[in-house]
Amino acid sequence: MNNIYNLTLIDLEEYFLSIGEKKFKGQQVFDWLYRKKVKSFDEMTNLKKEIIEVLKNNFTMNTVSITKVERDVDVNKYLFKLNDNEKVEAVLMNHLYGNSLCISTQVGCNMGCKFCESGRLKKVRNLETHEMIEQILLVEEECGKRISHIVIMGIGEPFDNYDNLIKFIEIVNNPKGLELGSRHITVSTCGLVPKIKEFTKLPYQVNLAISLHAPNNEIRGSIMPINKAYPLDVLIPTLKDYIKETNRRVTFEYILLDEINDTKECAQELCDLVRGMNCYINLIPYNETNNISYKRSKKEKISAFYDILKKNRINVTVRREYGSNISAACGQLRSKKED
Ligand code: SAH
Repeated sequence: MNNIYNLTLIDLEEYFLSIGEKKFKGQQVFDWLYRKKVKSFDEMTNLKKEIIEVLKNNFTMNTVSITKVERDVDVNKYLFKLNDNEKVEAVLMNHLYGNSLCISTQVGCNMGCKFCESGRLKKVRNLETHEMIEQILLVEEECGKRISHIVIMGIGEPFDNYDNLIKFIEIVNNPKGLELGSRHITVSTCGLVPKIKEFTKLPYQVNLAISLHAPNNEIRGSIMPINKAYPLDVLIPTLKDYIKETNRRVTFEYILLDEINDTKECAQELCDLVRGMNCYINLIPYNETNNISYKRSKKEKISAFYDILKKNRINVTVRREYGSNISAACGQLRSKKED
């Protein structure tokens, strides 16, 4: 049976037309789901009893549940159980500007980035759209606050689950739905070039972040297998096209790994690589994990790297750290598989 949270507003309207009902019922149901946030079809009290029965017979609704919440300063980590007993995580960060939720898009991940804990568990399956939506609805209910920002940077490679991801964006971004502004949604990819090209053509103003992590193919290829399929000489021109066609800025994420990609030469090479692009670089102090031997760059190295970028007039920030005490930081999700 299909899940009701898999349907966009247009899907719902088409569904009602297909069963000989008025189109606007789609809007009513959408409103119950995403404005009033009801938990059952029975609560949709402006629908006729017969319609509620039809919905109950044709759709499931809530299939995901929270099985664990870990709390740290300004951050909660949620463990979810899916219908088939698989598990994923999401991380809630309380910022001054709002509440940001980092959601997962797959169970496991096949991209194989050497430094990433989440990717050690191979992909089991894609999440369906409703499983991404339910992460938001459940966390809002649990914490009693509205989620104002979504970062699609949890477990999984979002562009490896492209169709479900786009439906998800359509639903959360819809002004009649969860109403999250495009600028409040960020999707991060390790660089699946064909999907970046498709994404370029879409009308959404969603922020695009690219996990770059190295200034040349040699280093990038040694830590990110995806670089063999889509090396920098393909990725960078694709991003230049994206920037030109959408008029938007790209974010580059760059993890600083001790002695791997944090030298002055790397910083200089990075400046040369992105020069002239409308972009900004987010330097991420590496979060060490038990199972991977990479080390975090020393403080002085991080500042030296930052200074070189600044001197070259590249927009750069160092990412504020959240949640490392509860293994909720970037690359640490699902590091304790016994959960
Ligand atoms: N697959 C997507 C999104 C998930 S990863 C992507 O690759 O962009 C989210 C970000 O965390 C990526 O930039 C990823 O490279 C980074 N990351 C992975 N492991 C990390 C770690 N141990 N410390 C800091 N950042 C990490």
